[in-house]
Amino acid sequence: MSKLLIVGTVAFDAIETPFGQTDKILGGAATFIGLAASQFKVESAIVSVVGGDFPKDYLRLLSDREIDISGIEVIESGKTFFWSGRYHNDMNTRDTLSTELNVLAKFDPKVPVAYKNAEILMLGNLHPKIQKQVLDQMEVKPKLTILDTMNFWMEHSLDELHLILKEVDVITINDEEARQLTHEYSLVVAARKIHEMGPRYVVIKKGEHGALLFHDENVFFAPALPLEEVFDPTGAGDTFAGGFAGFLAKTSDLTFENIKNAVIYGSTMASFCVEKFGAERMLNLTGDQVYKRLQQFKNLTQFEIELS
Ligand code: AMP
Repeated sequence: MSKLLIVGTVAFDAIETPFGQTDKILGGAATFIGLAASQFKVESAIVSVVGGDFPKDYLRLLSDREIDISGIEVIESGKTFFWSGRYHNDMNTRDTLSTELNVLAKFDPKVPVAYKNAEILMLGNLHPKIQKQVLDQMEVKPKLTILDTMNFWMEHSLDELHLILKEVDVITINDEEARQLTHEYSLVVAARKIHEMGPRYVVIKKGEHGALLFHDENVFFAPALPLEEVFDPTGAGDTFAGGFAGFLAKTSDLTFENIKNAVIYGSTMASFCVEKFGAERMLNLTGDQVYKRLQQFKNLTQFEIELS
């Protein structure tokens, strides 16, 4: 078992999908990552910041799941990071309606002492400068550093993003963002270019079309489970990252074969996240449900062909 340190936003989200809309609800990259990783019962901590407007009950939802929240700073006089988005009818694409950084704009992250030697570091989506500040506070170089990011930071902080990319082992990114970062349409070429920017492993998420893992000359593909109902994709990418990192923290096995399994766990977790608005489904997920879905995943992809 390895310790897992997570940095990312803890936020309010307002979401519109073809099925309805929400007011400000619990969201944020670190929230989704932490909830997914908590399924693996690993030792984990979140580094983030919220304002005085953030309900204590929301923080309790995290600490109740044994996530160490001592690294979540509360700035009483400030407002919590707020994001709102609207999904198109295909549910795969969305427009960001608003991103209010609020307390995130001046955030000075502090890694809890007990996590300065965490073996797995999950740099969830937020300002690349903050991701770097967290990495620099580690007293022991993590065995695996995973980075997630999004178009917002490519548009606003590309130079800083390039700096941190040099220092990470794995990047998880969606297809549109991989194309934006590399100006390449082919995901194979994009992955090669991202690999040259730093990460040894490149995971490209393709929403309902699954995820690709690139490492040297190897490519691995995991489909997304075909679901009857997709209600709200918000946080699916972060939930994927949380399942991926949580599984690797639990198994402490960083071979390519096991990283392939981590992609399967990430996809499994993400398949739950989209079934309800925001983090609701992840808050009500049981180990038994995860087990059954993994079985479904196996059945979906297993076949025997005799090659003569
Ligand atoms: P995903 O759907 O996996 O891309 O993640 C959506 C989550 O990311 C939401 O809960 C938002 O609060 C959070 N988010 C949106 N924009 C940003 C941003 N620019 N930086 C960090 N987190 C963000």
